[in-house]
Amino acid sequence: MPRLLIWGPEHWGGGHTRPCITCGRPALLINSQRQPQHKVCAEAVADAASEQAATRYHEKRDR
Ligand SMILES: [Zn+2]
Repeated sequence: MPRLLIWGPEHWGGGHTRPCITCGRPALLINSQRQPQHKVCAEAVADAASEQAATRYHEKRDR
């Protein structure tokens, strides 16, 4: 289930495009580290990160 990020006006990159740090295509938005990134790309990365965190959690717990 994809995690949907809530991005307000602070994620608007100012109206000029810069290459997205995830896919390299022009992005109008910035992520919370103020790097150019599409919202869908940030969501995909956040999903992967939370899956990794969940895997680490289970590895620790099962040990
Ligand atoms: Zn992108």
